[in-house]
Amino acid sequence: MNINKWMTATAVSIGLMAGSTLATAQEQDWSKVEIKTEKVSGNIYVLFGQGGNIGVSVGEDGVYIIDDQFAPLTEKIKAAIAALSDKPIRFAINTHYHGDHTGGNENLGKEGTIIVAHDNVRIRMKKGTFLKAFNDHVPPKEGLALPVVTFNDQAGLHLNGEQARMHYVANAHTDGDSIVYFEGSNVVHMGDTFFAGMFPFIDVDSGGSVDGMIAAANKVLAMVNGETRIIPGHGQVTDNKGLTSYRDMLVTVRGRVAEMKSAGKTLEEVQAENPVADFLDSFVGFSAEWPKLFVGFVFNSL
Ligand SMILES: [Zn+2]
Repeated sequence: MNINKWMTATAVSIGLMAGSTLATAQEQDWSKVEIKTEKVSGNIYVLFGQGGNIGVSVGEDGVYIIDDQFAPLTEKIKAAIAALSDKPIRFAINTHYHGDHTGGNENLGKEGTIIVAHDNVRIRMKKGTFLKAFNDHVPPKEGLALPVVTFNDQAGLHLNGEQARMHYVANAHTDGDSIVYFEGSNVVHMGDTFFAGMFPFIDVDSGGSVDGMIAAANKVLAMVNGETRIIPGHGQVTDNKGLTSYRDMLVTVRGRVAEMKSAGKTLEEVQAENPVADFLDSFVGFSAEWPKLFVGFVFNSL
């Protein structure tokens, strides 16, 4: 891939994630996106489409979901949910502000779904964000696109015979990340604090940091057992072993980058030494240059 091509591809995937104007820079053919449903455990299903993985709780009280991908996909997402339950979608929890997790808010809000998120998600969405890393403006949102119920540290949702506990994890992928633990079904949705089998995007311009990503992984590892199913923001559903290997990769890369940075090396010099080389077989990125960008996210957050 030539440099312009990967830059476009990367910009578009980041633009899609952030819900910014970049997403429209290249036409996205939404008609080609297929929503695939997979049963996770107990009441919980996961929907894969384009953007962040959607967690779905289905039961006698109705339906609630974790994240809602992009606005043009709402009808397809609703059709996939309708195959699981004929009850309404009562709540949608946003794990963070990025557009590939919140793009469906307005469509769902119009039909009475209540959007729930950490305080900082609403603040950031309302204000808009500038992503210096990609020289990109994420425009402000208003009205039904914004979360209606917000919380500071934790919140509990008591439906379908179990508690879904939302835990704020500070300065991880952004400054407004929540992980959601379905305590009865023994399932965790980690949002974008976890990219399973991938080098993650750390949105340093929005308060994210590699140390917060590691802390989020450690917090979840301390909460779960070997039976727990873990839904990442991106990638396949896994368990504490998958999360452990991801956490270990983050710890190792962070250690290498921190050492080089404190020895006075520049970002370019650190990238040239390729501190992720031995992980390239087991972790992938959004583009050929992504591992280098990931090193940049780590460097810039230290
Ligand atoms: Zn994200």
